[in-house]
Amino acid sequence: MSKSKLVKMVCIGLIGCSVYADATEVQEKSEKEAVDHSTSTALAENMMSQSPIDIVNSVEREMQKSVTFKYKGNLATIENLGHTVQLGVTKGQMIMVNDKEFELLQIHFHHDSEHVIGGKSYPVEAHFVHKSKDGKLAVVGVLYEEGKTNASFEALGKLPKKRGEKRAFKANINAMDLMPASKSFYTYSGSLTTPPYTEEVTWVVLKDSPELSKNQIGMVQRAMHKNNRDIQAINGREIIEKD
Ligand SMILES: [Zn+2]
Repeated sequence: MSKSKLVKMVCIGLIGCSVYADATEVQEKSEKEAVDHSTSTALAENMMSQSPIDIVNSVEREMQKSVTFKYKGNLATIENLGHTVQLGVTKGQMIMVNDKEFELLQIHFHHDSEHVIGGKSYPVEAHFVHKSKDGKLAVVGVLYEEGKTNASFEALGKLPKKRGEKRAFKANINAMDLMPASKSFYTYSGSLTTPPYTEEVTWVVLKDSPELSKNQIGMVQRAMHKNNRDIQAINGREIIEKD
């Protein structure tokens, strides 16, 4: 493979959890637009703390991690980036992981879910991507299951189906509305799920699954390619859970 082709393919793969992704790097909607994880196998070959994972054998610890949500703001925009649909947010929305503050940058969707819980996959996963002042990432994953119509998701309106399609929200929608009421979670140290698969990402996967109707799941599927990365080896990492 030529170097330029490789570079191009890696650029196409810069999606999802990668905060380095830029819409302009995404090529015309085609098969090439789908996430190509195979080109980056070499990149991730020596990395031992990759995401996503199958969440099994989680443990409780006396010194538990705490996660506090301080989303004081709204969703600003919704945009189809080709590889995913991304929600832009107003500035200054924070989470605290223990004593460390991370700011919400964007929310985007995957289908099927990237994380699997005890071998169970879900039709849709949302990633709430946060960054600290010193450049560390914390991603909150919400796994949706099929069920009743989700009123908060319905408030997003129709998802933009074409790459580049973008609109601003007029109504005030809080990012918390897309999460389950219970914030019980699993946490582990992982990576971006797209090239360059950067590690030291704090993952917080919420235990409870909000429901989406069959129609709502279908809308997600029509707006993007199937874009979930394969499950990665745990390599002895500890998964901590907290209710
Ligand atoms: Zn993601």
